[in-house]
Amino acid sequence: QEFYAKKFNELASVGGDIRRMFMLGQKLLQENPQIDLIDLSLGNPDLEPPEIVTSSIIKVLEKHEKGSHRYMDFAGLVDVRKFLAQELSHSEHVNINEETVYLTVGAAGGIHILLRVFLDQGDEAIIFAPYFPEYIPYISNYNAKPVVVNCDELHEPNLEDFRSKISEKTKVVLINSPNNPSGALYSKETIEGIASILEEHRRKTGQCIQLISDEPYSRIVFRNKTVPSILESYRYSWLIRSFSKDIGLAGERIGFVAWSEDKTKLGFINALRNSARCLGFVGAPRLMQRILPHVYHARVDVGIYEERVSKFIQILSEAGIKTIQPAAGFFVFPKSPIPDDRAFCDSLVSKGVLCVPGSGFGCPGYFRASLTQNIDRIEESAKRISNYKKDI
Ligand code: PLP
Repeated sequence: QEFYAKKFNELASVGGDIRRMFMLGQKLLQENPQIDLIDLSLGNPDLEPPEIVTSSIIKVLEKHEKGSHRYMDFAGLVDVRKFLAQELSHSEHVNINEETVYLTVGAAGGIHILLRVFLDQGDEAIIFAPYFPEYIPYISNYNAKPVVVNCDELHEPNLEDFRSKISEKTKVVLINSPNNPSGALYSKETIEGIASILEEHRRKTGQCIQLISDEPYSRIVFRNKTVPSILESYRYSWLIRSFSKDIGLAGERIGFVAWSEDKTKLGFINALRNSARCLGFVGAPRLMQRILPHVYHARVDVGIYEERVSKFIQILSEAGIKTIQPAAGFFVFPKSPIPDDRAFCDSLVSKGVLCVPGSGFGCPGYFRASLTQNIDRIEESAKRISNYKKDI
């Protein structure tokens, strides 16, 4: 639109692959409403929150506490921050207190308030492909430049490539493990490798690069895998989590940023308060904050996601389609049966399955399937993909 700001048009045009697949599906359904289309394009978690969420909301509301819907400290309710600080000190093996936890509007809100604090025009933020596509407009929104580092076949960051991409403009490194779209969980060695490269760079140049770890899938890992603590690995790191996926509260917009106690980070909570103020979020939804201590240890049934993932991968692998085994969540990221992943996903639509090309995640030659349908639909979709592969 010509009356929109240039910057807005630039940002809005990013991330076209997911939208394009969605539109292709819509078009097909309009032309033929009877078609049985299995939509694996959007990452909208389908598992309902555990029952304790509803009962906690009712319990909290029934208290009828005066003023409990008003504005509050932008950082969040102090008793909730204290609660999270205690839990996180234990799980992340570092000291965290109520001044080093900030409640956010989902993980996305957490990423934005941090980027707003750290990025100036022309700065660079390093991300790892495959990446969550929204990182591109998020970083560009602050007039900074995303710099993409490649991963290996197992979707683990290539540390040599990482080292070579650091420049005097690098302000932020943004990692996402367990990863959307690949489901890869970066190993402890990888995390320590990233940390030591940043530490070495700081010693040599005096330049302090911030490491942001975006972890909305870290509490829905499979087979008792453990997620290495980012806060323990690197001094200038910032942990972002949300309850969108692990408790199924994506629409309720609740998450947090946490960091370790450290004299160099004193007062950082005020920087975040100001950042949230500038961006207009102000604070995380208060009702959701109030239920957090009651629901924190609840989870959606991760076994259901794991079963879907295994079934899907098994059927694809029988047809010769390779996929690395995800460690968490509900995404799978198989190799595209033909090199042109966009052409593959486009033609897959006519076979009744919507997936997203890996190119949209900075990783051509793959495709993403979001397994947010029941197991029968997952099985059916995998069979359709496999049958199609046989025809190619
Ligand atoms: N980061 C990643 C890697 C995601 O996959 C998502 C959502 O899909 C988000 C951030 C945003 O999470 P939230 O809904 O908690 O803001």
